[in-house]
Amino acid sequence: MSTLSNIIENEDMEKILSEFTRLEDQCYLENAGSSLYPESLIYQVNQDLLRNVYMNPHSDKYTKDCVDHIRSSILRFYNTDSSKYSVIFTSGTTQSLKLVVESFQFAYDQNEVQNCGSFVYLRDNHTSVLGLREIASDKNADIIHISHDDFLNALNLSHSTSNLSMKGRNNRGGNSLLVYPAQSNFNGYKYPINCTEKIKEGCLDNYVKKNLCKINCDWYVLLDAASYLSTNKLDLSKCQPDFVALSFYKIFGYPTGLGALLVKNSSNEVLSEKRYFGGGTVDIVLSNEDYHMKRELFHERFEDGTIPFLSIIALKHCFDVINGLIPKVINNDLMDTISYHTYFLAKDLYLQLDLLYHRNGQKAVVFYTDSEFDDINKQGAIVTFNILRSDGSYIGYAEVNYCFLL
Ligand SMILES: *Cc1c(COP(=O)(O)O)cnc(C)c1O
Repeated sequence: MSTLSNIIENEDMEKILSEFTRLEDQCYLENAGSSLYPESLIYQVNQDLLRNVYMNPHSDKYTKDCVDHIRSSILRFYNTDSSKYSVIFTSGTTQSLKLVVESFQFAYDQNEVQNCGSFVYLRDNHTSVLGLREIASDKNADIIHISHDDFLNALNLSHSTSNLSMKGRNNRGGNSLLVYPAQSNFNGYKYPINCTEKIKEGCLDNYVKKNLCKINCDWYVLLDAASYLSTNKLDLSKCQPDFVALSFYKIFGYPTGLGALLVKNSSNEVLSEKRYFGGGTVDIVLSNEDYHMKRELFHERFEDGTIPFLSIIALKHCFDVINGLIPKVINNDLMDTISYHTYFLAKDLYLQLDLLYHRNGQKAVVFYTDSEFDDINKQGAIVTFNILRSDGSYIGYAEVNYCFLL
């Protein structure tokens, strides 16, 4: 009998496979684009919707309580709670990222717009991040990009001889925002996620020098976790980025159109510049005068309009189904088990493709990777490659799609 996983017992794998019979004999290799939803998830969601009366949470306390319960489940899933983080529902990672930059106060003082911090991003970021620089530059932030190597070097070189206590008092350089992916969606490289402290201590200060002068700014970290979270564990009791952006379909396959922005409560004041308000984000608004009063609860001020409450209700079942389906083989943890299972699948593909040669000795596959699949802490379950013809020319990716692995 063949082994279906290096990590999960065959019996459990058979149970998992029975959730995806719709694939028939197809092999799904696009998990980085979207996970596949298990059959029982759709069944459970439908049963729930057919049996219960859910209404607009702005008017119905029961639905609002269900939604708030799910906020708590999300925080618990990432090993934190509402005393430390808030959940803002969004339409997905892209909107979460946008919301941070649109609301972020780069200026040291709201009335002193010349003392603005920097918007710093990794060149390795998703296109959703690159577009943020347009918003940031409208807000007078300096736009700075850092290469993969420079970023990792800056983290490695930094010593914990913190001058953090010096900061804040003399923060004339404004507030700077670093955004980077926890895992590159392009090639699955995993960046350190436990480096928030080092960044706040100023390990990137050299990159934001103005006229060669060192400046003091306060640093904030926006973690693009969309790709990482689909197959990896995030423990917010161990690492605490100020903001985490995520999309749920990448983790569970369903529902689409729903993501979240997790905000560290102690950092929420820097998101002071949200302009728009509407349905649900205000307590009082006068239509004939320029007056409105924002909602008291932090997340309510950021959720414009009616949140997709039925999709949020579906999330409850996402957590239940995945917990019931995947055995906790590694570290007694669900996501660690998924992480190891998918890592070994991808590594197996990588090693097999690496052995392919044409008869003339020409390698048949070229990889785009920043790791050799030798360390699960640095490489996620994505294999990015081109296939070459025997003359070394490329077979275009329209012919053979990039291969993203389940
Ligand atoms: C998928 C992805 C995004 C965009 O997510 P959307 O759900 O399309 O908004 C952003 N960053 C990374 C790293 C991703 O993998």
